[in-house]
Formats: sequence, structure tokens, C-alpha cells
Amino acid sequence: MIDVSDLRKSFFGKSGENVVLDGVSLQVGTGEVVAIIGPSGSGKSTLLRCLNLLETPDAGSISIDDVTVRAPGIPGAQVRALRKKTAMVFQGYNLFRNRTALANVMDPMTAQGTPKAQAEQTARELLTRVGIAETTMQQYPVTLSGGQQQRVSIARALAVTPHAILLDEPTSALDPELVGEVLAVIRDLAQQDMTLVIVTHEMAFAAEVADRVVFIDGGRIVEQGPAREVIRSPREERTRRFLREAV
Ligand code: ADP
Ligand code: MG
Repeated sequence: MIDVSDLRKSFFGKSGENVVLDGVSLQVGTGEVVAIIGPSGSGKSTLLRCLNLLETPDAGSISIDDVTVRAPGIPGAQVRALRKKTAMVFQGYNLFRNRTALANVMDPMTAQGTPKAQAEQTARELLTRVGIAETTMQQYPVTLSGGQQQRVSIARALAVTPHAILLDEPTSALDPELVGEVLAVIRDLAQQDMTLVIVTHEMAFAAEVADRVVFIDGGRIVEQGPAREVIRSPREERTRRFLREAV
């Protein structure tokens, strides 16, 4: 279970304070798939980054599983404990380029003290699960397609057996013909009851795969509900306008 309460985050620039998260509260049940949608700049990535404290919230609390943190002033030990609860998949390019696909998936496990032989076996299983062939496992990221790289990234995220996987527009940097293979892997994870929080522009995918859709605008949750309901018949005018422009 993820429980986010009244999360606030501002950035300060030349034009003064930019309130990016303006009191966001969100619960995600174990095994639930939540899709976060909203216009560019609405705070979706910042919300995801706050969930693993890549970004430090100004205020609010985050509970994941048995770890609770309250901002501001989160102690380092709590930061590390919360980070262990999730793994993040970004738009792209988050593999280590000087490590093979296999090593990229093994590294998080060996870093946690898993013996090398065991890490290798698990990495091979995870890579197989995301559709990476044995021969491809030995290749370096630059020699892989964007879709393969993103599937290796997902295997890498699974390697640390997180409570939840956070995916930030995992398909938006891909050529259109490669989007489907990555969405298929995410769909499989959803069906295997993995807890997923996914920021996406793929509305049809969100309607099909997510249990719930959360629409964010201006750092606030404007509307949320069952995925098909929100996407096919949104209640709020702002959501309607966004969805009209998104398709
Ligand atoms: P989204 O993912 O919905 O497109 P973001 O969460 O990336 O939105 O960004 C929301 C707002 O926060 C934007 O106005 C962006 O410029 C600002 N922002 C994000 N990260 C930073 C940062 N590290 N420093 C300053 N401003 C930031
Ligand atoms: Mg973003």
C-alpha cells in the first residue's frame, strides 16, 4: 500500500516560487495499477520522483509498505528505507552503457549482496520474462533497440523486488513501432498483480490496463476514478479538455 498525504513541492526560479505539487494525496493499493495523466508541466514526474525521494518534498507524508516519511527533514536512514520500496523506469537511457544487458540487471542484486551466480540466474529469468533472448543478454545497450533497452530497464527494476514500480512515460521516447512491445511487458506485470504507478500519454493503454486513472493539472489531482470511466466519460471539464487534446 502506498499512501501519499498532502504532498507539497515548490521550485524557486527567477520568476519566484513555482508551486509544482499543491497538496497531492493519493493511495495505491497493493497490486493496483494507477495511471497518472495530465498536461506537460502539471507535476507528474515530480510526484513520481517524490515517491522515491529523488526529489525532496517540502511538506507532506509518504508511506510505502511499512515505511513512513514526513517532510521536511527526512532522516537519511528513512530516505534509504523508502527508496528500497520502489524502482523507477524512466523515458529511456537509464541503463549503464558500459555494462551488458545481463550485467545491468545483475548489478542491483549484487550491490545488495546477492551472490553472483544467483544474481545471474535471476537476471536471466527476469530478462526472459520481458522477452529478451539469451544472445541479446550479452549485448551492450547501444546495440539494442529502444524497445529492448526499455524492457531491460523493466527487468532491472524488477531485480530489486520492489513493493511497487514507478514508470515515468516509459514509451514516450520510443519509435512508434516499438511502443507495443514495451506496453505488452507492462500489461503482463499488471496481470501478475505487480503494483504499478505509471505516468503515460497512452490513453487507450491506460483505459485497458490501469485500475484507476488520476488526472493531475497544476500540481493538484483534478479527478480520479476507475480507468475506463475517467478516460471515456470524465466528470470535470478540465479533464475533458485535456483528453480531447490528447487524442
Ligand atoms: P510533468 O512531468 O507533468 O510534465 P514536471 O513534474 O516534470 O511535470 O514539472 C512540473 C514543473 O516543475 C514544471 O514547471 C517544471 O519546469 C518544474 N520543475 C521540475 N523539475 C524541476 C527542477 N529540478 N528545478 C526547477 N523546476 C523544476
Ligand atoms: Mg514528466
